[in-house]
Parts: sequence; C-alpha cells; structure tokens
Amino acid sequence: MNYFSLNKKAPNTSFKDAVIKGLAPDKGLYFPEHITPLPKSFFENIDQLSYSEIAFQAIKQFVSPEIPESVLKVIIEETLNFNFPVIELDNNISTLELFHGPTMAFKDVGARFMARCLGYFNTNNTKVTVLVATSGDTGGAVANGFLGVKGVNVVILYPSGKVSDIQEKQLTTLGQNITALEVDGVFDDCQDMVKQAFLDEDLTSKMQLTSANSINVARWLPQLFYFMFAYKQLHHKHKEIVFSIPSGNFGNICAGMMAQKLGLPIQHFVASNNANNVVTEYLKTETYIPKPSVQTISNAMDVGNPSNFIRIQEIYNNDFSILKENLSSYSFTDEETRVALKDIYTTYNYIADPHGAVGYLGCKSYLKNNSNSHCVFLETAHPTKFLDVVESVIKTKIDLPPQIEAVMDKEKVATSISNYEDLKAFLIQKNKA
Ligand SMILES: *Cc1c(COP(=O)(O)O)cnc(C)c1O
Repeated sequence: MNYFSLNKKAPNTSFKDAVIKGLAPDKGLYFPEHITPLPKSFFENIDQLSYSEIAFQAIKQFVSPEIPESVLKVIIEETLNFNFPVIELDNNISTLELFHGPTMAFKDVGARFMARCLGYFNTNNTKVTVLVATSGDTGGAVANGFLGVKGVNVVILYPSGKVSDIQEKQLTTLGQNITALEVDGVFDDCQDMVKQAFLDEDLTSKMQLTSANSINVARWLPQLFYFMFAYKQLHHKHKEIVFSIPSGNFGNICAGMMAQKLGLPIQHFVASNNANNVVTEYLKTETYIPKPSVQTISNAMDVGNPSNFIRIQEIYNNDFSILKENLSSYSFTDEETRVALKDIYTTYNYIADPHGAVGYLGCKSYLKNNSNSHCVFLETAHPTKFLDVVESVIKTKIDLPPQIEAVMDKEKVATSISNYEDLKAFLIQKNKA
C-alpha cells in the first residue's frame, strides 16, 4: 500500500518508508491511498474467525506487499498474545478491556506491531532512533514493545512530575536500547521538541529518526482490531453498537473509524474528552482552536492539539455534516470523572480507571437521546496504573497485577532536559556512542 501526506506537498511513499519516516517530509501525516472495504461475508462469518485471522484480514491491504503474508502472520501472532474481553455492565453499556498487555495500556498493540514491522524492515542494520513524546502510557508501551529490537534505539520524552509513579517506572527502568528523558515542562513541550527534531535537517542528516506516536501508521492502524474484536463478542446480542473512546491524540478513535470504513457496522462514535476539549468545541462551533493542554486525572488525554484529528477529517471527506453524523463529543471535569469512577464501582461492582470513567460518561451522555443503542466504552488502561486516584475514590485497595509489581522495585534511570538544545545534544551524543 502506498501512503500520501495529508499536507499534500510530499511524494507518496510505501508502507515501509511511511513507517521508517513517521511523518512525511512536508510534516503531514501519512494516510493510505486506498481503503478497500472487506467483503460482507467477513463480518457475517466473524464468529468462525480467530482474533489473529480477523487482524490479518483487516490489516493486510495496508501493509502488503512490503510485509509478506507469512511474516505478517507471525507479527500478528506475537502482537496479540493477550485477551480483549468485553464486559457487559448492563443492557446498554459494556466496556472493552484493552489493558491485558504487558504494560496494561491499550497502546501495547500498536507498539508491539510497529516494533516488529520496524525490526523486519531493519535488515541492513542501519540504526534507527525512535523518538517519542509521552503523556503517560505511550512511553511504557513503546519501551516494552521495542525492548531488545536490533538496530533500534528508543528515546522517550516525558513531562517531569506529570505521569503516574507506575507509568514513570515502566518507561525508566528497562535499560538496553531504551532511554528516558525527563522534561522540565508539560506534554505539549515534549511533543513540540519531538516535532522540532524531525524538522531539524542538521539532525536528520546525521541520523534516521522515526516516531512511535500514533502519527506513525504502524502504531495507529493495528488499533482498528479492537473494534472488530468487540463486534465479534457483541453482535449476537446488540445491533446498534456505539463506541465511546476516551481520546487524547485521537489515534484510537480514528482507527475505529478506519474499521468502520472497512465495513464494520458501527452506528456512531463518541469522543470522550477531559477538560482538554478542542474537538468537543469543534463539533459545536465548526472552528478548530488548539489550546495549551491542561493537567487532569486522566493524564494520557491531556492533549491540546490532537494530531490525528486531520486523519478523521480525511476519513469523512472533510465534510462537517458527515463527520457530525458519525461523531459526538463530550467533555468532562475531573470531579465528574471521580463521581463516575465511584458510580461504576457501586452500581456494577466494576473498577474503572480515570480514562475509562471518562468513556463511561460519554456513553451516559450519548444514551440519553439514543436509548436503543449499546454503548461500549474503551477501558484504555488498568486501574492500578492510576492507583492514587482510583483508591482514593473507591476507598478500596486494589491488588497490583504481576506486570506492574515487576517494575515497582526497579530503579528509575532518566536524564533531565529542559529545552530543544538539550535534546539535540543528547541525540547526537547517543548516535555516536
Ligand atoms: C493514549 C491514551 C489515551 C488516548 O488515546 P489517543 O489514541 O491518543 O486518543 C486514552 N487512555 C489511555 C489510558 C491512554 O494511554
């Protein structure tokens, strides 16, 4: 599959180059040239297909021929070695648990898939540096997904004091080919520095940089599997399926929209936001105004200018009315999120994390006027990743799962930086080593 830049000022390129480059030379996000819907029979017979077969059929067109089918099968098998259960809370609401991977955040799938693609492409031992900014979970998932991949160095920027203890441990304790940079600033500062590095020709002439944020097609696209997996589990019982996606950079929801493009019968999407409400406002006013991000208890969604929004517009033909038919968006305060956490616990005896709780609130808002729908909110992280918030609200201790337990005693290793010059000097130094 070839990809074009959404800025339309760069040549089209192969899947391989899109993965290695991350961002197009004109700074645009890559988007597939064609999207061919899957045959109707695929969805009719989905019960007969395993999760790996579903994933294989769904993503094949986007990665072939550069990734041969036999290789793709192995990559998928290795990527999806955990479960994606849907838990029905009541007749109108379910949650899709995306936290059963090694770092207990939904980003594990994208990170594992991308790492294996890059590992496959990286046959001639050129060194690639994956540079990634994280507001919390990306760092851990990418660090874990890329750990030990030959020829790939991973450098993670995270905002000092603005990720949870567990998240920090997950991205600062692995060692090997993974380095963490602790940035004196907020997530947007981290993201800006990463963007600046990609635009710095002096730097990019010296080293091959790529991103592992959802701007990278190999990180973004495999997320469309989730929606198909949920459909497989729900379609017998529920016909009008709506997904409420706790959104930050809007990569996950945008992957769901790709699943819909492939023919998955999804009735509607709900973009559930915390106080960072650029898209909620956009749907009200038709004006897109990026804002500095504000800190919330659902910190992986503290994004003031969601990078994938441009892909969403492309999916719906840059037509505001089509977009509005398919997408609603609501924004919730931390206080509302805490109340929701408690509500989910007392009503359903289910422990959500703050991001999932925002998704739950999105379902509730949508269902008010659409009571026949079945709304699935994505549980994007395990509640223990946000232990302080969750335990203080539900007033119950949660046991640490083994994946988390394993990192808690390890020692943090991170280098502090405060501006782009620090980052550049670090990267050049590292590349020489
Ligand atoms: C990254 C993340 C999100 C936001 O996902 P996007 O694809 O950036 O919209 C939501 N919840 C959690 C727990 C995350 O880690």
